[in-house]
Amino acid sequence: MIKIEKLTKEYHSQVKAVDGISFTVQNGQIAAIIGTSGCGKSTTLKMINRLIEPTSGLIQINSESSKEIDPITWRRKIGYVTQNAGLLPHLTVKQNISLLASVLGKDKAYINKRVLELLELINLPEEEFSGKYPAELSGGQRQRVGIARALMENPDILLMDEPFGALDPITRNSLHDELLDLNKKLKKTIIMITHDMEEAFKLASIIILMDKGTIIQMGDKNDFLKRPANKFVEDFVSGSL
Ligand code: ADP
Ligand code: MG
Repeated sequence: MIKIEKLTKEYHSQVKAVDGISFTVQNGQIAAIIGTSGCGKSTTLKMINRLIEPTSGLIQINSESSKEIDPITWRRKIGYVTQNAGLLPHLTVKQNISLLASVLGKDKAYINKRVLELLELINLPEEEFSGKYPAELSGGQRQRVGIARALMENPDILLMDEPFGALDPITRNSLHDELLDLNKKLKKTIIMITHDMEEAFKLASIIILMDKGTIIQMGDKNDFLKRPANKFVEDFVSGSL
């Protein structure tokens, strides 16, 4: 469970990038944060991962509070996936996936077994892909490797910042199906960012629509279609925003 209470981030100006938002995502659930550019989505995700310290508010993961645990221990429970996968170009697929485990001095046999497991999970055969470099992969393959890397330490939680935004529609669709399948198998708790309502409807059981740092509406597909909170939500759902 991820519980966020009155989370706020004020950068240098008085304008709040994130302004007192609260929500809860249950274990195994996929939540989507959606909204136009600059509404505070990435700032929210980075605060949950504690790459950014909140100005105020609380984050809770299961029974543990962000106030009680140091950021590095906290981050170990969380896998983070960015838009362009963020792979290091001079490292192979295998080295990218296992970088942190190697730095932490984990056992080689363990690393080999785990990387094999993960490559199977993301449907990239080891013999073919483990030694390839990011430049030799398609966008969809790179994104799969980014997901495998995030799963390396078997975190309970996966945070994804516009993971499918840069992909063509066909690749995006197959990655959607793979994510749903992966979520069914591994029961991870996932918060993803998107600016595409169709994507949110397809993947998420809880959708959090933000504007100017606040939550405008939160609910499932049915709530958004049948009970839009206001004109802004209607426009967003109809795709005109
Ligand atoms: P989104 O991911 O929804 O596009 P962000 O969370 O990145 O939006 O940004 C929210 C607001 O905070 C924007 O107005 C942005 O300009 C501002 N912002 C983001 N990062 C910083 C920063 N490091 N310093 C100052 N302002 C920032
Ligand atoms: Mg962003």
